[in-house]
Amino acid sequence: MTRVIGVASGKGGVGKTTVVSNLGVSLAQEGANVAVLDANLTGANLGFHFGFISYPTSIHQVIRGEAAITDAMYKHSSGVDIIPASLSVDDLETKPKNLKQTLCDHLSDKDFILIDCATGLDKETITAIEMSDEIILVTHPELPTISDTLRTKELSKKLGKDVLGVVLNRVSKQDKLKKENIVSFFDLPIISVIPEDHRIRRSIEAKKPVILQHPRSMVGQEFKRLSFHLLDKEFKANPSILERFRYVLTG
Ligand code: ADP
Ligand code: MG
Repeated sequence: MTRVIGVASGKGGVGKTTVVSNLGVSLAQEGANVAVLDANLTGANLGFHFGFISYPTSIHQVIRGEAAITDAMYKHSSGVDIIPASLSVDDLETKPKNLKQTLCDHLSDKDFILIDCATGLDKETITAIEMSDEIILVTHPELPTISDTLRTKELSKKLGKDVLGVVLNRVSKQDKLKKENIVSFFDLPIISVIPEDHRIRRSIEAKKPVILQHPRSMVGQEFKRLSFHLLDKEFKANPSILERFRYVLTG
């Protein structure tokens, strides 16, 4: 049974694509058959995280009925199948379409399909959420982002989706809002706490998810924890000694 999980948030730039790419790789490392799909039709960038910059076919052509979804799927060396969206301005007119049936018909061999959702509360986001069965919310530990992401939670619930929990991203010791406060806002479990780490940006520049570049970093371990959570497996973090020192000293 394929689990279609949308990764959503109320704001852009909070780390949805970073979560989708690293979680996808981590699940594949655990033996799952994984596809990641860019449903951010007007702000595509999932391909970049994996080093896919130009590709002949994208989800835009699938939506327009010009290509099969399997023709828009590219295998990454980690084993993850990437379904990117077009970067061309010529494709911006393409209207979002719920591809749930297409996913069921052609990708039923997948254990997980992770959907990188658009941001906001418009048709693009609604369609991405509609395609998903379960939703993971991503937020920064700051009020404006939390407030917008609470609306994404409400929207997901209204659409009948199972909201699994919240990923707190870019967390640092200086944050005023702590995990306990944020739990009470969302009334959902915090399923991952990802620290602020400049290596995430470096890894995007290097076109390789951070979990592949720095598997025993705190962030690498945190993505691993999140994948274990989805697989319902127990996880014991094992960051490198150097990383433990680094975290205590800088955090
Ligand atoms: P979204 O998909 O929500 O728009 P991205 O995943 O593209 O967000 O992340 C936006 C930017 O934030 C990335 O370019 C990356 O450099 C940075 N970023 C994401 N997570 C972290 C983190 N934990 N620490 C530091 N920088 C991060
Ligand atoms: Mg994104």
